[in-house]
Amino acid sequence: MAGARRANKIDAHGGVVLAGSVDSHTHLVFPASRAAEYEQRISGATYEEIARRGGGILNSVRKLREMGATELKERARAKLAQFAAHGTTTLEAKSGYGLDWPSERRILLILRELARAQALEIVSTFLGAHVLPPEFRGGKKPADDYVELICREWLPHVAEENLAEFCDVFCDRGAFTVAQSRRILTAARACGLKLRVHAEQLERTGAARLAIQLHASSADHLEKLTAGDIRALANSDVTCTMLPGCCFHLGLAHYGPARKLIEAGAIVALATDFNPGTSPTLSMAVILSLACTQMRMTPAEAIAASTINAAYSLGRHESIGSLEVGKFADMAVFDVADYREIPYYFGVNHCVMTVKSGGVIYSRR
Ligand SMILES: [Zn+2]
Repeated sequence: MAGARRANKIDAHGGVVLAGSVDSHTHLVFPASRAAEYEQRISGATYEEIARRGGGILNSVRKLREMGATELKERARAKLAQFAAHGTTTLEAKSGYGLDWPSERRILLILRELARAQALEIVSTFLGAHVLPPEFRGGKKPADDYVELICREWLPHVAEENLAEFCDVFCDRGAFTVAQSRRILTAARACGLKLRVHAEQLERTGAARLAIQLHASSADHLEKLTAGDIRALANSDVTCTMLPGCCFHLGLAHYGPARKLIEAGAIVALATDFNPGTSPTLSMAVILSLACTQMRMTPAEAIAASTINAAYSLGRHESIGSLEVGKFADMAVFDVADYREIPYYFGVNHCVMTVKSGGVIYSRR
């Protein structure tokens, strides 16, 4: 091609070059780690017990509401540089640690500013329905009032200010019911937002069926699927996003049924679920290792799941997610002799260079 004549040539020194990872599920903006709760869980407390004591997501909400926008943004910016250093070139990022309108909006504005101020592409998702905020707990106000607040006030603002492309709901035990989730997602779609659902993680609620009915782009987690759910997802266009980092970090024995979903013909994606409570990793290579070892995905299936399939769930499969003429040159170079060594050497970052839209954004050389 004529335009290629003046292009820079990059020597990959015999390494493996892949499409940059597309991390389609992260909670990028949060105020602090929850390492103390990590230790409590090791000592025997469950995730839900910690949440009942005011820990968990509400712990992050309390701290985020108190933290200034500059500090929050700088924390997220530092994490984005680490994502780039691990070969990720696009990531989805959700709100959901604000749970009041000024704080939710602040998170979405930080994401917009970061999308302009650094190299990684950020896809924004509004997750006002993460859990009930403290103001609606303990019988203070009915949960449905919060659902209506999201539907009647916040979602129209999100759309008006163009603050997010997607709306997500945590539809599970201890979060929002299927009926509440349906109400929120239907309102979000009417505002022009595309849909994602946290589904069937703690309990089988029917959230995956809801995702299918509403033509959501993605249903995420899916550890508790039934055989019927697997068939229904395989017959749908909903991407099944597996988040094995959560199962690992929570020390669970049961991982999502990725193998059964693939065999049934479903679209399976992988993401980090980067967040301070249940999956504090931003390394897609670690997720590949977990997918291969714990869910018996082949290395090639896992790489496809974390690139082109994840791009599909974000509606970007025609521009990113694979190395093809006509797509953006989003690439990661790994210092290994065989692509299978990326998950095989678990816990080691072999990414030595990351290229976004043709420009080198990270290099260890
Ligand atoms: Zn999540």
